[in-house]
Amino acid sequence: MSRITQDSITCPKCSRASTWPVYHSVNVQLDPMLKKEVLDQTLNHFVCPGCKYDAQIDVPVLYHDLDKGLMIQLASDEFDTSQLDAALSATGGQTREALLAMKTRLVRSGNALVEKILLFDAGLDDYAFEWLKLTIQYQQPETQGYRLFFHALKPKTILLTAFKGDEPFSTEIPRQAYAQAQAALKDLGFHGESQRWAEVDLKHMVELANKLSELRERE
Ligand SMILES: [Zn+2]
Repeated sequence: MSRITQDSITCPKCSRASTWPVYHSVNVQLDPMLKKEVLDQTLNHFVCPGCKYDAQIDVPVLYHDLDKGLMIQLASDEFDTSQLDAALSATGGQTREALLAMKTRLVRSGNALVEKILLFDAGLDDYAFEWLKLTIQYQQPETQGYRLFFHALKPKTILLTAFKGDEPFSTEIPRQAYAQAQAALKDLGFHGESQRWAEVDLKHMVELANKLSELRERE
């Protein structure tokens, strides 16, 4: 089930108080329309009924796709994932075993949440994709200030949304580059991780690369 509360929000611009639906979890099988809102980034987007001031409501949201065995938690830095599985099995009617079998991820931004959903929907692996981003930034130093996000698979290319500052633009890379990143990770001895609620981002991949090269040196 999706979890929703009716919160009282005071507009920071005109001080008018209004009640607004706030989603804390989204089950895309039960509420497919909510998936569209997550992807459009209109979920938990407040619009003041008085002055039309609009802003994103900053609350942790759990994205839940049972068919894909996937859960993605969107949360700020203070959020503690350590109790999440226990809390979920207590409230969600799911057994701990079923929860532990699901793929879990932690993301810190709406853009990162959208990216993971689209990436897993396309059947890609996020470790390989983050590795690919790392490779792009290494080979093309001019892209280091950019934030890159997966957008879609095309017959021969992968469509990315890139941000330079706040301005998004589209860019494409050959599909082959993804296969190469997958192979490179495998060559480094990476065969997946069992870490729950892993935050698979660029920082994580740099740490992983260091860990893998340390293991190699010890061999
Ligand atoms: Zn207002």
